[in-house]
Amino acid sequence: MRRFSGEGPPGDAAEILKGLNKPQREAVRATEGPLLVIAGPGSGKTRVLTMRIAYLLSTGRARPHEILAVTFTNKAAREIRERVTRLVGEGLASGMWLGTFHSVCRRLLVADCQHLGFTSGFSIYDTDDTERALRQLMKELSMDAKGFKPSAIRSLISAAKNRRESPEILERAAIRPIQKAAARLYGPYQERLKRSNAMDFDDLLLKPLDLFAKRPDVLAKYRRRWTHIHVDEYQDTNHVQYLLTKELAAGHRNICVVGDDAQSIYAFRGADITNIISFKNDYPTAKVVRLEQNYRSTKTILRIAEATIKHNVDQLKKRLWTENEEGSPVVLLRCLSETDEARRITQTIRRLRVTNGYRLQDFAVLYRLNAQSRALEDALRQDGVPYRIFGGMSFYQRKEIKDALAYLRLLVNPNDLESLRRVINYPRRGIGGVSQQRLFAPVASGTMTPWEAIARPTMPGIIPSARKKIAEFCAMIVDCMQALEHGDVVEIARKLFTDAGVMHDLRAGNTEEGLVRWENVQELLSAIAEYMAGAEDESSLEGFLQEISLFTDADEKDSVTDYVSLLTLHSSKGLEFPVVFIAGLEDGIFPSHQNQEDPVKLQEERRLFYVGVTRAEAQLYLSCAAQRFVYGRSESYSESPFVSEVESLLLRDVAGPEVRMRGSFDSVGGQVVQRRSRPVGTGPSREYDLSDIVPGAIVLHRTFGEGKVIKVSGRDIRKKAVVHFKGHGHKNLVLRFAKLERLD
Ligand code: ATP
Ligand code: MG
Repeated sequence: MRRFSGEGPPGDAAEILKGLNKPQREAVRATEGPLLVIAGPGSGKTRVLTMRIAYLLSTGRARPHEILAVTFTNKAAREIRERVTRLVGEGLASGMWLGTFHSVCRRLLVADCQHLGFTSGFSIYDTDDTERALRQLMKELSMDAKGFKPSAIRSLISAAKNRRESPEILERAAIRPIQKAAARLYGPYQERLKRSNAMDFDDLLLKPLDLFAKRPDVLAKYRRRWTHIHVDEYQDTNHVQYLLTKELAAGHRNICVVGDDAQSIYAFRGADITNIISFKNDYPTAKVVRLEQNYRSTKTILRIAEATIKHNVDQLKKRLWTENEEGSPVVLLRCLSETDEARRITQTIRRLRVTNGYRLQDFAVLYRLNAQSRALEDALRQDGVPYRIFGGMSFYQRKEIKDALAYLRLLVNPNDLESLRRVINYPRRGIGGVSQQRLFAPVASGTMTPWEAIARPTMPGIIPSARKKIAEFCAMIVDCMQALEHGDVVEIARKLFTDAGVMHDLRAGNTEEGLVRWENVQELLSAIAEYMAGAEDESSLEGFLQEISLFTDADEKDSVTDYVSLLTLHSSKGLEFPVVFIAGLEDGIFPSHQNQEDPVKLQEERRLFYVGVTRAEAQLYLSCAAQRFVYGRSESYSESPFVSEVESLLLRDVAGPEVRMRGSFDSVGGQVVQRRSRPVGTGPSREYDLSDIVPGAIVLHRTFGEGKVIKVSGRDIRKKAVVHFKGHGHKNLVLRFAKLERLD
C-alpha cells in the first residue's frame, strides 16, 4: 500500500517549512489555539498534520509526550511516526501519543480503568464476541433467538451507546419488537461485560468519557499532559469522538483538525459531518486554513472528481487545482460480466507494467462490496499476479486464531466469560452443553464471577467426569498463569496450546485445511515473539492481546512487498496510488441498492465515489459489467448514474466481446465515445446464453480454464454439460452456475 510521500531530508524548522506551500506553512506555524484545515483531497492535509508535529518538536514548542495525534488507521499512525522520525530523529519522535481513537483510548484505559472497576488486563470484545454474548443472554432470558438476529440487536445497542443513551431511554423509545428486544438485552449485556472485565469497541470510546465525568482529576491530568491535539479525517468523527476531543482540548484549546466534508463516508456508522462544519461554532476564534493546490492527481482526474462532487447539493464549495500535467484520459471499461471485468483489469495491469514500467504496488482496484473481490482474485491468481485484499477477514478473526487467543486471554483475564465459553470444551473434553449451563448458572444470576464459578470445588448437578475435566482445565490455566510471571510468553503459549490439545486437534484430520490452520497458529506464536521483542515499554501478553483486537487487516505486516492492492472504497481513504481501477460501476452495486432511492444516502455514495476517484495519481479506470453474479444470483445491471454524471469526460472502451477475448480490448484508440443507450454491454451477452453451449464448443471456465463440451443434457435451468478441461479431465457442470463462456 502506498505511503504518504514527499517529505524532505531530516532537518530543522526552516527545512520543514521549505517543503510546504504558503497556506500549508501558515497552518504548520499556527501552533497555538484552535485550527481547522478544510480542503479537498490530495491537497496535503495529512502532510500538514505531520509537518506540524515535526515543527512543534523541532522548535521545542511541545515535547513528544505532549502531542496527541489521532489518525484513521494504525497504519497511517505508523507512517506519520516514521515520517516525523525522519524529520526530527528518533529521540524526539518517540513518546508521542499517536494512533486511532480506539488505540489511544485503550492506552488511556489501561492506565486508568481501575477507577471504573476494571483491571488493566481487560478483554476487548469484537463484534463476533458481542454477538455470542448476546445469543447466550437471549437463551438465558428465554427470548426467542430465532426471531431476532444478534447482529441486528448488536447494532441497535451500539447505536444507542454511541448516542449515549441508557437502557431506560432505549426502552422508552422502543416501538418495534426488535427494538424492544435490544432494549431488554442492553442492560444485562453491559452487566455481562463488566463481570467479564471486558469492553466492546464502543466502550473503548465511551468509558474514557465516563471516567472523565467521574474523576475530574483524571481529566485534568490528560488536559495537562496533551498540550497539542491533532485529528486527521475529522469529517468522519462520530459524536462520541467529537466529545472526547472537545473534553481534552477544553483547557488549552490547542486543537488542530483536518478534513474534507466532501469525503465523509461513514454516516452509516454514526459519523457526523456537522462536526467539521460546526467547528467554528465550538471555537469561534479558530483559524481556518483552506488548501487549494492538489499535488496528487492529473488535471484529467481532478476534472472527473469535480464533475462528480458538483452533483452533491450539500457540499461546501472548494476550489481545487493542480500544476500536475493533463495526463491520460480516464477510461471506462464496459464489460460483459464480473469475470470479463476482472480479466480486463488484469490485462490492463499487465499491459501498463510493460508500457509504463509500473510496479505491482502502483495498482489498486477499488470496489463497493467485499464480495466483488472474488472474481478479481481469481483473475489475478490465474495470471500469477500477487495481490492483497484489504477490508476482508483479518488474520486475527479466523476461527483457529480466535480459539487460540481465547486461551491466552484467560491467562490475563480469567473472568472473560466469552473466552471461557469458547474454549472450555474446545477441543472436546467432555464438558457438554448441560454441564456448561449448570456451571455458569451462578454467573447468569449474578452471584459469582466466571472464574469463581469454574474454580469452585463443588458443582451441583454436574456429572463427576465433567467435574474432573473442569478441574483439570482450571489447573492447566492456573499453571500457565503462574509460569507467565517469570517465564517466556511464547513458550508458555506453545505449551498451553499443546496441553489443551489445540495443536493435536488441528493436525488430527490430516487435512490440508487443518495444516493451514496449524500454520496460522504457528504464525500467531511468531507474532507474539516479535511483539515481545519490540522496544515498546508495555510489551506484555496483555498489551499484545489488546492491540491485536484493534487491528484491521490493513495494519497487518506484509511478507510480500510488491502486490496489487484490492480494497473496498471505504478502506481506500487517505491513500494514493499511481493507477486506480474502480470496478462495478452499476446502478444497484455502486450506488448500492439500499442507498439508491434516498437522496441523503445517495450523496454519501457519491462522496465515496469521489474518494475513490481522488486516490488516483496518474491513471484512472472505471469499469462496469452488463451482468453480475452477486447476492447469490446473476442479474443484469445498468450503468451507474455516477458514470453518466461524468460521461462526457470519459474515454469509452467500446471494443466488442470477440476482440476483447483475444486480449486487445484497448483498441479503441483515443476516440471519445458518447454514451447512447443502456444497459451496459455492446452486444448480446454471450456468457449466459445457454443455447451457445453445444457439443464440440470450446468454452472457458473460471477455475478449470479452457475446455471442450462433450455432451449436453437437460433443459433451461436444469441444463447440464460434460466438459473436458485440459489438466482437469471431465467435469459435469450445471450450466446456470458454471457460467461458461464460449471461446470459439
Ligand atoms: P486526502 O484528502 O486524500 O487524505 P490529503 O489532503 O491528506 O489527501 P496528502 O496525502 O497529505 O493529502 O498529500 C497528497 C500528496 O501530495 C502526498 O503525496 C503529499 O506528499 C503531496 N504533497 C502535499 N503537499 C505538497 C507540497 N507542498 N509539495 C510537494 N508535495 C506535496
Ligand atoms: Mg489525508
